Amino acid sequence: MRSRCLQTAVPAGWRRGVLVTTLCQLLLGWSPVMVSAQIPPPPCVTDGLGSRPAAAVKSKVRTCPVRGICDNPADRDAAIPDAGTPIKYITVKFQSVSHDDGSDPLFSRAEAAAGIEWLNACYEPWRIQFVFDHRTVYSTFFHDVESWYAVDDLGARFSIDTRHNLNILTTNYWCEWMGQITLCGGARGPWQDPSGRPLWSVIMTPNHWRADGLICHEVGHNFGLIHTFGDFDVTPCSPCDEIVGADNGDHTGDFCSDTPPTPVDPWNTRCAPATGIDRCSGRPWGETDYRNWMAYTPYAPCKDHFTPQQAGRMHCWMEDINEGWISYVKIEPDADFGPAPLTVRFDGVTSLTPDGWDWDFGDGASDRGASPTHVYAGPGIYTPTVMLDAAEGEFAATMSRDVWVHDDTAAIENVEVSPGLSLIRVPIHTRTSVPVDSIDLPLHWSGSADLVLESVSTVGLVSESFPAPQWLDLDVANRRGCLRVWTVDSLAMEPGEGVLLDLLFSVDAGVRFANDDIRLADYGSCRMRFVTDRGPYVPRVSNGSVLICEEPDCAYADAMRRPSGRLQPHTHQAAGLAKHIDR
Ligand SMILES: [Zn+2]
Repeated sequence: MRSRCLQTAVPAGWRRGVLVTTLCQLLLGWSPVMVSAQIPPPPCVTDGLGSRPAAAVKSKVRTCPVRGICDNPADRDAAIPDAGTPIKYITVKFQSVSHDDGSDPLFSRAEAAAGIEWLNACYEPWRIQFVFDHRTVYSTFFHDVESWYAVDDLGARFSIDTRHNLNILTTNYWCEWMGQITLCGGARGPWQDPSGRPLWSVIMTPNHWRADGLICHEVGHNFGLIHTFGDFDVTPCSPCDEIVGADNGDHTGDFCSDTPPTPVDPWNTRCAPATGIDRCSGRPWGETDYRNWMAYTPYAPCKDHFTPQQAGRMHCWMEDINEGWISYVKIEPDADFGPAPLTVRFDGVTSLTPDGWDWDFGDGASDRGASPTHVYAGPGIYTPTVMLDAAEGEFAATMSRDVWVHDDTAAIENVEVSPGLSLIRVPIHTRTSVPVDSIDLPLHWSGSADLVLESVSTVGLVSESFPAPQWLDLDVANRRGCLRVWTVDSLAMEPGEGVLLDLLFSVDAGVRFANDDIRLADYGSCRMRFVTDRGPYVPRVSNGSVLICEEPDCAYADAMRRPSGRLQPHTHQAAGLAKHIDR
């Protein structure tokens, strides 16, 4: 089958190298993006190979291997939705890749929302709708990849709960098209994961994201649609080729007889019917379905529809393979992120006939009714669910994204040391209750000890596996600096608490008594903040100090300091410990 794949009528640039083979093995559809006006419009490769055992459907005209029951016209037609078909709600997990330091995220949460708008508009006539979640993957490695293996690895590594979610990942995938390096995207067909656990769903490059609706095309592949011109590995005039004027549309090409065959080569680059003749039948192409989302004409504003048989295929494949994706209830919250206590109103949306709603807000509380309001008292990550009692039966639904409630802290420890130490360690504690992408710390140190900031250490701390904290600003003369902590090749920091990092100060060993402040306070453009995918927030801050003293001065200093409102007890740093650090 692989060799057949390589025999296809693809442009010369495609014949070279392993890429073609791997694309044929792995991809249902792919879509390079034009980098110059001279290059034909985005083609897709389709994978005619079924991981499922292929059977032969006998047609009076031709035969073609089938991938499952949904290639059977009767099963497909039985799944064509009508006005009474319950709307299926699909949760899309969008995953944007940024560089390690968070720069150049390939699409924002707002852009994910725009993608959902495209999907909802394209699929609304056929009773399929979408809800979404979004997160950022921090990985310079996966930000710009040239290898299909890396794309596949990206999808497999970062997709979330593929049994229940359609995962769309974005990377700058550089590949070769028409002899030029360009950006491509792709999708997996439902039959390509025979274990029943899809590895991932769709990879998109950011170019198409904002304007042209390619997302509708790629998700169509993911739901089981093939290009209207048929699979890429269908050799022209082979038994699988859909022939103009032949009665074979249900069993060849895209397995839909209501999408007339279109030319594969040359590409149909205009928003117009194809010209010329079908070399297999010798007949003119005639009125092709060039506005179909699965055609290869230009995207917006040309493409605008799926056909009934395509809709039947999508519903059929989804029910056959990806049933776990389907929900008949959508939960719409009016908030999903904020400080505790957080009040959220939930709306249950369905096309079924509701008799009753039974909500579980994920924090132990429950309620009834279609639109309850709930107050999350404390910080945490909560997964709201609802059980709908409808005339059609009972249906459970989980909200597409969790509710994030924060009530978090950043605290500098009060440190008390004996005179004579040359290095003093000042820990900064953090507590986070939601996934945090990065933390900015506007640090100030001042006082009679003349502390000199020597370094920052994460050894043995919660941030030990993170990259070294980065100074966004370091103003030694004014004893202040802006420090950023973030994660690498990975996702956000897991919620939790602990020592985020240690500040290591040197001090003159001759200082016998001093009391220096170590503070977190905004200055310039440096803001104390925890940054999450859903936005930044300001934690509660408690400042600290370094007290260098001997008795009875220590007791005196403690007594003097208490009224000033210090929140934390001092920790006495033993000389041995400091020496250990010093070494
Ligand atoms: Zn495609």
